[in-house]
Amino acid sequence: MSNPLHINAGRLLGDIADLARIGASDSGGVHRPALSPADIEARAWFRERTRTGGFRPGEDGAGNLSAVLPAADPSARTLLLGSHLDTVPDGGRFDGALGVLAALEVLRTIREAGLILPVRLEAIAFTDEEGTHISLLGSKAAAGLLAEADLEHPHSSREAFAAGLARAGLTPEGLLSARRDPASLAGYLELHIEQGARLEQSGTDIGVVTAIVGIRSFWLTFTGEAAHAGTMPLPDRRDALWGAAAFIGRARAAVLADFMPGTMNCGIISVTPGAFNIAPGQARLALEFRHPDTAVLEEMEAALLALAGAAAEEHGLQLAVTPVGSVAATPLAADMIAAIERAADRLGRSHMRLASFAGHDAMSMQAITPSGMLFVPSVGGISHNPGEVTPDADIVSGANVLLHTVLDLAGAADRGS
Ligand SMILES: [Zn+2]
Repeated sequence: MSNPLHINAGRLLGDIADLARIGASDSGGVHRPALSPADIEARAWFRERTRTGGFRPGEDGAGNLSAVLPAADPSARTLLLGSHLDTVPDGGRFDGALGVLAALEVLRTIREAGLILPVRLEAIAFTDEEGTHISLLGSKAAAGLLAEADLEHPHSSREAFAAGLARAGLTPEGLLSARRDPASLAGYLELHIEQGARLEQSGTDIGVVTAIVGIRSFWLTFTGEAAHAGTMPLPDRRDALWGAAAFIGRARAAVLADFMPGTMNCGIISVTPGAFNIAPGQARLALEFRHPDTAVLEEMEAALLALAGAAAEEHGLQLAVTPVGSVAATPLAADMIAAIERAADRLGRSHMRLASFAGHDAMSMQAITPSGMLFVPSVGGISHNPGEVTPDADIVSGANVLLHTVLDLAGAADRGS
């Protein structure tokens, strides 16, 4: 207890710096979209790091890359540790990379300590988490959540997706065959940067993720009547934008008052006909809202749509509501949450429970195996940006908590002293 096992901080920080050179952008960030030439280079680099670390590199049909530390019993279940190597366009050095490289470092540390665990450990880098082509592509494939129809509508284009797959030596058939047998898995753990400022603002070392938010999206179309902006008296107008504007202010106030830590956003607004001298006849608004609890998300939906209806009525408008899509909230595994908290306590690290308001590979993995996530602070909450920074001390502390969570789950906490 006095001297718990620690990862090799210099080696991990060196790996993060080396990987950040692949796809380094002029702005000081990293441009490594999934299956781009830079991503292919990063994948080759990770395979080589796996080999020089003394592990057998593995790859499944979805291009998910692995480093494996076998257990004493060849039939032992696998505890997966990972994240992703791809980035958003001109993103940062830590989003994804941290989780993959810390996973590899945990495997190296456990092997060097001579610990033989009752679980097989696998560090895994999932393909295209960020959705250059298909969001969470690799983890969805591994979880058996990928359908043939999903491959027909990539965010990029069918041609760009096909070219990316060819570059990585992947095929649609391979993607659809990468499902892991849930019975072979003991769980999944992902270390990630917070991408928000809650840990930094509260001075907390580790965020223990309880759930990943659900998301719902709607088009709201307010329809009134276009009118001369000078001659139509204000009291007689049916200005569609007035209804939309009233709704936006009230929706924000309602979420702040009744649905925290939920969020709402109106990211697109367009009015027609669209001129200085015409009162808008129609206003179209993109509404998205998020909450980690599905029951609350239902309440939010009812409350926000009722506010939109009331704002329309007040201004003599018609309202049309069109659902655009939704992502279910994903509660993470209670056993994993508890194990992460025990590990943080053991290392004397402060921790707090929080929800993730961004999507992660853990969403896919939770569908087939108990999954947990831990966050380390992001300076200023900046992410998906070249200015993404997590201090070295927090990186090392997060990796050590990941290590001790693994030892705890493997029933080897005492041997990690
Ligand atoms: Zn990420």
